[in-house]
Amino acid sequence: MPELPEVEVVRRGLERWVAGRTVAAVEVLHPRAVRRHPGGGADFVARLTGQTFGVAMRRGKYLWLPLEGRDLSVLGHLGMSGQLLVQPTEAPDEKHLRIRVRFTDDAGTELRFVDQRTFGGLSLHETAPESPEGLPDVIAHIARDPLDPLFDEPSYHLALRAKRTTLKRALLDQSLISGVGNIYADEALWRARLHYERPTATLTRPRSAELLTHVREVMNAALQVGGTSFDSLYVNVNGESGYFDRSLDAYGREDEPCRRCGTPMRRRPWMNRSSYFCPRCQRPPRLPS
Ligand SMILES: [Zn+2]
Repeated sequence: MPELPEVEVVRRGLERWVAGRTVAAVEVLHPRAVRRHPGGGADFVARLTGQTFGVAMRRGKYLWLPLEGRDLSVLGHLGMSGQLLVQPTEAPDEKHLRIRVRFTDDAGTELRFVDQRTFGGLSLHETAPESPEGLPDVIAHIARDPLDPLFDEPSYHLALRAKRTTLKRALLDQSLISGVGNIYADEALWRARLHYERPTATLTRPRSAELLTHVREVMNAALQVGGTSFDSLYVNVNGESGYFDRSLDAYGREDEPCRRCGTPMRRRPWMNRSSYFCPRCQRPPRLPS
């Protein structure tokens, strides 16, 4: 799955290459790619044609393109393998091209949604009431992400303490904080020397603030690595191979030495996924007797 930094790079690419352009024609090549659109494929095409895209927005891993002068947005679901590409119009179709958007200008490029497994797609949604950022109504419940300047840190710390859950579950809880996936959760916990099963209620305010700082640092580091890719005429997210070439300290490092203390890193099954941690730096919580 693409994580927040990958989605942010796609957002920047869309901002640069698609904002202000008016849709001349839309082609839906696979019905699955518009299955989240309430009115179906023909309705998606009819409602999008003639509209002008505003500046792409993001919250957590959700990405949307507002339509200028309308309370409507195109929500992009990248799923496992979805890509949004801005391609020269004469470029051959990708094998898994699902949706094509042509523009009225003569810039010579078009927007393409390509998805091998078609778990992702595009859909049109109305703007949530009283949302200054124009959040689509279907994602109105998603909390702000840690890179959002309006992320409410004091409320987050309080909510975390009050929640009867464990740390990694809380990090992945999109109603508390959005955009933190499995990889960045493991990385931030390793940096903060905190075990993933630690009850959130035992976290002091300074420790919780420290963890949040680490979450932001791992994301910003990934953004810096990926930041070079949006300079080209290619907006790309690919769950398999398109991940930024980032150096990871915890995720995927089972049996390799901890970069801090040398102890072999461990992997444990966790909610149908895995958790990677250093058994020495990240001590498991003591169970109540
Ligand atoms: Zn260690």
